[in-house]
Amino acid sequence: MAKIDIIPVIPFDEGVAQGKALGRQELRARTAAALRGRYLKATLGAMSRTGLAREVMARLETPPDYGRYPELEDLYPEKLDELRGLAEGSACTLPEAAVYSYVCFRQHIEDWYWRHQVCGEPGHCSGVMFDGPDGVIGGQSSESLPPPAPVRYRWRPPPPHALLRQLKADRPPLALRKPRTGYIESWGVGNEKGVALLCGVSCSVLLDEPIEDTWPIGPVPLLRFAGNVRELAALYERYTLHNWSRVNQIWADTSGQAVAVEKCFRRIGLRWIGPDRTLWVTEGHYESPEMAAYMRAKRLEYLRRTGKDLGAEDMQYATDCHVRFTRLAELCHLPLGRGYKHIRRVLTDHAPFPRAICRHGGPDTAPYDRSVTLNSRFEDVTHNRQFIRKWISWKKFPCEVPETVVQYPVPPKEKTRAGRRPERKGLHQKRK
Ligand SMILES: [Zn+2]
Repeated sequence: MAKIDIIPVIPFDEGVAQGKALGRQELRARTAAALRGRYLKATLGAMSRTGLAREVMARLETPPDYGRYPELEDLYPEKLDELRGLAEGSACTLPEAAVYSYVCFRQHIEDWYWRHQVCGEPGHCSGVMFDGPDGVIGGQSSESLPPPAPVRYRWRPPPPHALLRQLKADRPPLALRKPRTGYIESWGVGNEKGVALLCGVSCSVLLDEPIEDTWPIGPVPLLRFAGNVRELAALYERYTLHNWSRVNQIWADTSGQAVAVEKCFRRIGLRWIGPDRTLWVTEGHYESPEMAAYMRAKRLEYLRRTGKDLGAEDMQYATDCHVRFTRLAELCHLPLGRGYKHIRRVLTDHAPFPRAICRHGGPDTAPYDRSVTLNSRFEDVTHNRQFIRKWISWKKFPCEVPETVVQYPVPPKEKTRAGRRPERKGLHQKRK
């Protein structure tokens, strides 16, 4: 049995540690650099420093709307504590620490916003989930443009789908961070209640709407409050502006309930698992009608503004993503039992480009077919287990290396699938 350590999370102490590591000089230097930087120079940077500090402190001291955002009743005081700790640890005043925190947050969201306005992405990631005889499982294949290949590298066609070698399971000790309220967010694969994010593939919308400024809260830890996937989805909808990421994800719990979340900066679409007991997502493709329509409208706006057409290279990427989505549907419905065997078959699929899930692009393949699978993994939320395969740069593709298995201890009370949908006496249920 692996050793489990449960460490209480104390926001003030974490702030102190952060402040000590940073130091007063560095904190001030970073604040000044952010205010001079390209994103904030014309706005926050143009304000007087006392004016900025006054405004930031006013924001910090205004409690959020707890009626609309009940979980912030727990999170907001913790943010205050963390900032007080930061001030103490770095030997700064509270306004200095608050301004530092605020300009870092603003710089971060501005950077994300501007970085994804126009450029297409080279990745082709895919994710899949099954509720079957081996448990509730799901995983993803992560693709990217690889580093340059060695001079003498020659491309070899991969097999139709790859064979498997599996290593002995690793049972690492667990250090679990327990918040003052709510559940342990990360207990191996999922949270303490067996709710897990099984895959997340990036999905940018060209010319997306600006990211909402939600400081001092920022992102809300959904797994701290979600006792099952229904609650997770309700939280995600409530905090869609706080958790602004641009991704397609699959969330599941040990009962087999699952949802695909389609997310851009300010919008969210949900697709629930149906009687076929499977879900799948791909980068660059939204399937829910509202999100698909939004992405399409933004792509057309992008073409209008740039003077490009649907045959442009960025749009080839978009078409590729839709094609792979349908390929995944086909793979998820193969009669392979929705278990480990099935998910491994999906993740090592080598259909012709652009349908393939496992990507083997290289210097010898067509210019557009250059992406490589860097990571291929799946997780079993029922048994709290991970199966991982990684690319060895220009030597072995993930489908050619043995599978590394990590076995985490199963959280108490969630040991069997017999305990489906446990009664929950959680925070935000009590408040309803
Ligand atoms: Zn492969």
